[in-house]
Amino acid sequence: FYQKASTAFRDHHKLLAVCTISGGGLVAYADVRPFGSAYADAAQPPLKKTKVVVLGTGWAGTSFLKNLNDPSLDVQIVSPCNYFAFTPLLPSVTVGTVEARSVVEPIRNIVKKKNLDVSFKEAECFKIDTANQKVHCKSTQNTNIRGNAEEFTVDYDYLVIAMGARANTFNTPGVVENAHFLKEVEDALRIRRSIIDCFERASLPNLSEEDKKRVLHFVVVGGGPTGVEFAAELHDFLHEDLTKLYPDLRKYITVTLLEASDHILNMFDKRITDFAEAKFKRDGIQVKTGSMVVKVTDKAISLKERLTGETKTLPFGMVVWSTGIGTRPVIMDFMKQIGQGHRRVMATDEWLRVEGVPNVYALGDCATINQRSVMEDISAIFSKADKNKTGKLNVEDFSEVINDIVERYPQVELHLKSQKLKNFVQLLQSKQDGAAKKATLLDIEKFKSALSEVDSKMKSLPPTAQVAAQQGEYLAKCFNRMKECGENPEGPLRFRDSGRHRFKPFRYKHLGQFAPLGSDQAAAQLPGDWVSIGQSTQWLWYSVYASKLVSWRTRFLVIGDWGRRYIFGRDSSRI
Ligand code: FAD
Repeated sequence: FYQKASTAFRDHHKLLAVCTISGGGLVAYADVRPFGSAYADAAQPPLKKTKVVVLGTGWAGTSFLKNLNDPSLDVQIVSPCNYFAFTPLLPSVTVGTVEARSVVEPIRNIVKKKNLDVSFKEAECFKIDTANQKVHCKSTQNTNIRGNAEEFTVDYDYLVIAMGARANTFNTPGVVENAHFLKEVEDALRIRRSIIDCFERASLPNLSEEDKKRVLHFVVVGGGPTGVEFAAELHDFLHEDLTKLYPDLRKYITVTLLEASDHILNMFDKRITDFAEAKFKRDGIQVKTGSMVVKVTDKAISLKERLTGETKTLPFGMVVWSTGIGTRPVIMDFMKQIGQGHRRVMATDEWLRVEGVPNVYALGDCATINQRSVMEDISAIFSKADKNKTGKLNVEDFSEVINDIVERYPQVELHLKSQKLKNFVQLLQSKQDGAAKKATLLDIEKFKSALSEVDSKMKSLPPTAQVAAQQGEYLAKCFNRMKECGENPEGPLRFRDSGRHRFKPFRYKHLGQFAPLGSDQAAAQLPGDWVSIGQSTQWLWYSVYASKLVSWRTRFLVIGDWGRRYIFGRDSSRI
């Protein structure tokens, strides 16, 4: 198994290092200097470079920047963070298994060796003006004489939106004011301080037993991978380090993990879910499923049982909210501006172009590939195949059309397995005998409506670093090969237009997912339904994450931190 798993992960790493997919439908390309002409003729004024503005320095933005290498581009980066943060290690930062500075790399370090014009502005974009191809930004540092943030605009020829997402509170009252989120490096540092604060508070004199229990009750809301990993890290910190320093408080400590659905880690294989739930039970982490948080105050959290409607109050010392992601306000405003106000997440096509706006791309957590456009393409495929415009296809042509669709949209293959479609296809096949076969016509509308019924079940890509990084890499390759592919388009035929698409569409390759469960145990779900659980998986986790860190500097620091933790334990100073 180990050999197979390490090959899978070596391939994974290779995949991140070497781009898998080439690009998509980038359109007109203004002011591009011809390749190889680079200022050779001194009499000629230098040609204007194409301005590419990148919003965000997270997984998607950084992956795009790391892979971009066309010197004819003038790249301007705008982000409130002048660094890239390796988010999968943030749960470890909350308890000091790894230090915050070990998981971040200055963005200037990442781009400095590039043969590109790159500049960085530490600011926040607050408005995108597509009519004038400008983004409005405000500094996170400078304020003007009236005390307001200094504002400026940046022009673009191409805009790459990679602003990620914000924590989703589902508008639950009191969450923003009283809970911690675990999204950014600052959040992880705040949680670390807050844990120690709870222990110091519980050590003060005059606290009743009840108060001590409350102060040392740690609640994690959300049983997804981040919430589970944080609960596991917290449990290890409490039991491996803090109980040694605060032995009298051991009996008051509780960790509760709340999940609204019936199981934690429900996106994983059942074997992993079962193992995680059993392990947490053994560790004494209270897993409470099937209850929704309805309110959070400074000292207690109110729950409502999903089945019985019964409400309950849990006093706590610290609560961490990790229930998924929502759209940032700036993106919501932008979506309203471009006619996507009815959507929850910004929609792009398969080339990562924002629907309805030219020269704007969106990748990572802030966008999703719109499946509706997939349905429209499928309709167009049928229309093209329906040569007599009767709305019906001969069954003989049917399989050809289906192959065409499946080749272009592999996700449709899953639909063909869904019961409704299966029945429909079986019905057709049953008619495919002898003379009847030729005569049978397929009613396109019926098939399309069967397909669109299951359309809602089409899964959008998960909001993960893996998706964001692959999209960034894909888009950079498109930009690098824009001229070449403009001359020799390599994408599929355009269904709603003539000719071919310039680039192949983006294809996500899922390479597996880990769930660290504490006490040096982890679970992994690898492609091909491979499941691995236990200590060896934890070592696989160490090696995969060490190899995926963005630089040698951070790699050394993180490995050093892991070693320090083994030898000396975690540091519990409140600084
Ligand atoms: P981000 O990485 O969030 O980057 C967004 C960028 O936009 C940031 O630089 C931000 O500063 C910037 N920005 C924000 N607002 C503005 C603005 N107004 N103007 C300009 N810039 C702005 N995924 C995995 O695949 N595996 C894991 O193990 C994993 N673990 C995780 C653990 C934690 C604790 C968290 C929080 C996430 C984890 N994820 C994991 C998910 C992963 O981090 C995200 O899917 C990924 O970060 C998305 O990348 P992104 O570039 O879209 O957004």
